[in-house]
This record gives sequence, structure tokens and C-alpha cells, in this order.
Amino acid sequence: MNKVKIVIAGPRGRMGKEAVYLMGRTENFELVAVLDHKNEGKSLKEIEGFASYDVPVYTDIEKCLQTEKPDVLIDLTTPEFGMHHAKTALSYGVRPVVGTTGFTKENLAELEKLCEEMNRGCIIAPNFALGAVLMMKFSKMAARYFADVEIMEMHHDQKLDAPSGTAVKTAELIAEVRESKKQGHPDEKETIPGARGADFDGMRIHSTRLPGLIAHQQVMFGSDGESLTIRHDSYNRASFMSGVKFAVEEVLKVNVLIYGLENIME
Ligand code: NAP
Repeated sequence: MNKVKIVIAGPRGRMGKEAVYLMGRTENFELVAVLDHKNEGKSLKEIEGFASYDVPVYTDIEKCLQTEKPDVLIDLTTPEFGMHHAKTALSYGVRPVVGTTGFTKENLAELEKLCEEMNRGCIIAPNFALGAVLMMKFSKMAARYFADVEIMEMHHDQKLDAPSGTAVKTAELIAEVRESKKQGHPDEKETIPGARGADFDGMRIHSTRLPGLIAHQQVMFGSDGESLTIRHDSYNRASFMSGVKFAVEEVLKVNVLIYGLENIME
């Protein structure tokens, strides 16, 4: 069987580094190049932490795709570059697997159209941790019976977007089954703006940012005399890699945009 040829964008980042190591230990994956915005022309092995990875570093995505002809591009950068990378990859017939968070609805619509035009798959996964995907699925199940819910997401303080992609995705899934409802007292007032968190269809999302945290989320449902809490914790970035591997394998089988691994997990 031919190996899947892969380019990783953002290899020096915390997620990107783990993704490079995933390539090293996965037999049917072949890392053919990395895309960085620094280090043009170097080999990845010249960069600290990658001594055993002798693959070229590109700063120009078009040059990289034309030369290396990968099957899949994994993006773990920033929303701005992630969108540019995903669009360019699709235009070359390369399937993107995007872990970068912060994509807008307009971004998703544009990529969906491009997938159709190019007849190629693209997977955008706001959370690669399979346990987190199950947390989202269980939350959707619970929301049928509990209309009052607050989402609390907690991340490290270097995270650029808030609320997290996972929190937004959880709220979207809940909204599919929960009757639209403005929660809390009808006359409640915030004495400090933002005290009640972000409003998503009447439910609230709270974002905590602290050093030491990785990625954590608690979905709390309340009803008369009872509450139900569904919680997931990622303790390190390796926790995301089983989802990256799964997404790479799945993106080769589809020709549409998939937003969220829950849509392809049985
Ligand atoms: P990070 O450590 O800041 O890494 C981002 C990397 O991207 C940095 O090395 C940065 O380089 C590089 N970069 C920026 N622009 C680039 C470009 N144009 N081309 C190539 N590389 C570029 O962040 P992280 O924690 O790894 O997270 C990366 C993304 O994944 C974020 O959007 C984060 O929210 C998301 N994330 C997703 C999951 C998931 O499960 N889906 C989990 C965790 C994080 P410089 O340092 O030189 O700027």
C-alpha cells in the first residue's frame, strides 16, 4: 500500500510538533515537507527537536504543493494562515486536515464550496481529542432533556480565540435539539459587563485562560433538584494525535467538507 504523503503547516508549534512526531511513529504516513513562515530552504532536521526528520522546509505553500505533491496538508497554525493554507491546498487537489481553530461561518461556507468544485474532502476539527468529541455527543443527547445549560471552557493563556472552537461546536450541537430559550432571570443585569459569559441562543459560554491549563471543558445541565455535568480534560497535546491520525485516514475517503469529527465517528 502506498504511504499517505503529508505536509504539516506550523511544525514548530505545540500541536505541530506532536503532529510531526505522529508521522515518525505511523507506518503508512510519510512526512514529505513542512510549511513554516521561517527557515525557508532548511531541512527540518536543522531545527531543534527534529534531528531525525530530514524533510524540506517551505515558506511558500504553492511552491511546496507543486514540488512535493502531497495527498494531505495538516494545518496547525493561526486562523488567518489556516484558511489561506486550506484554500490553496484544495485548489491544488490536496486534502486539508485543519486543527487550527477560529474559522468563521463564512470561512466554512467558502471551503464547502471549494470542496464541491474540486471534488476533494476537507476535515476541520475544532477538537481532535476523541474524548472531547464524545463529550460533545453526550451533551447533545442530554440537551433533549435539559434545556438549561452552561458551557465552561478552560484553556492555557496563549490561546488566541475565545470562546474555544469546541465550546462553539458544543453549543451548536446542543442548539440542534434544545428548544431555543433565554436562560437565567428575565430581569438579570450584569453589574460588570461579561459576567454572564457569551450568549449563544440564550445559553451561556464562559472562557477561562490560565497558564498551566491545556484544554478542558465542562458542560453543566440543570433542572429542578438535579444537575448533570459532562467534563473532558486534555492533559497534554499528545491527547489530540489519535484524532489527527483518524482525520487523515478519513479525509482520503470523502469529497466534502466535514466540520467536526463527531460527524464521522460512529
Ligand atoms: P502555537 O504553539 O502558537 O503554534 C502555532 C505555530 O504556527 C507557531 O509555530 C507559528 O510560528 C506557526 N505559524 C504561524 N503562522 C504560520 C504560517 N503562515 N505558516 C506556518 N506556520 C505558521 O499554537 P498551538 O497550540 O500549536 O495551536 C495551533 C492551532 O491549533 C491554534 O489555532 C489552536 O487553537 C489549535 N488547536 C487545536 C486543537 C484541536 O484539537 N483541533 C488542539 C489544540 C490547539 P511562530 O511561533 O514563528 O509564529
